[in-house]
Amino acid sequence: MKYITKYKSPNYNSRNKSKIQLIIIHYTALRNTKEAITYLCTKEKKVSAHYLISQNGVIYNLVNERFRAWHAGQSFWQDIVDINSFSIGIELDYNPNGKNNKFSSKMISSLKKLILKIIDKHKINKKNILAHSDISPFRKKDPGKYFPWKSLRNEKIISNFQNIKKNDTKIIEDWFKKYNIRTKKRIIIFALSLIGYDTRKVYKNLKQYNRLISAYKSRYLSELTYVNQEIVYTYIIKHLFKNLLTKN
Ligand SMILES: [Zn+2]
Repeated sequence: MKYITKYKSPNYNSRNKSKIQLIIIHYTALRNTKEAITYLCTKEKKVSAHYLISQNGVIYNLVNERFRAWHAGQSFWQDIVDINSFSIGIELDYNPNGKNNKFSSKMISSLKKLILKIIDKHKINKKNILAHSDISPFRKKDPGKYFPWKSLRNEKIISNFQNIKKNDTKIIEDWFKKYNIRTKKRIIIFALSLIGYDTRKVYKNLKQYNRLISAYKSRYLSELTYVNQEIVYTYIIKHLFKNLLTKN
């Protein structure tokens, strides 16, 4: 796999021996690759990512994987708050409001190859390939609802929950009943926290709850035209079932 290594970001520090466990996907929301390189390599911006992928599929390696790049900001996943120390960040040259507002097939093809290479190298679990919006659902939207998760799912780069039957998930539902977690909303929140999401503030704050649900929907249910609470609930239960009962 070929990378362009000519541009280097000064924005990184030590991982402090944390093991790489997560891959975080972002979009730049800038005009083009040139602007993104300048931005991510400027000291004063205090941001970076390990990789940047251009619209024509060129991969730029801006920070060596062994260092801690600064891409996640304030975020949370499965009780980890210092996501940068545990992750590899990949930026895509994409702006929902710019001329680069398509996830080109060359870009996605390079992204898939890069993800597979990172997974193999660091033995990363499929379920740990995340959107920035997964780890910062209250303040980030990238890579957004048009990102082709389906294409990654079809090639088995990420997990698929579609083939899980309603009957399988009964175990999970019975378990919630046993622990007296009864309303759908409570179950949704609890399941999301077991999956890894930050649910610390959503129990009492409806606005934050709605933000979390829309982050989940943009990641997992964006292909559906109509989504109600029941559909979100069913999907999350399948998701949790898959996470708990399968290794990868
Ligand atoms: Zn981001």
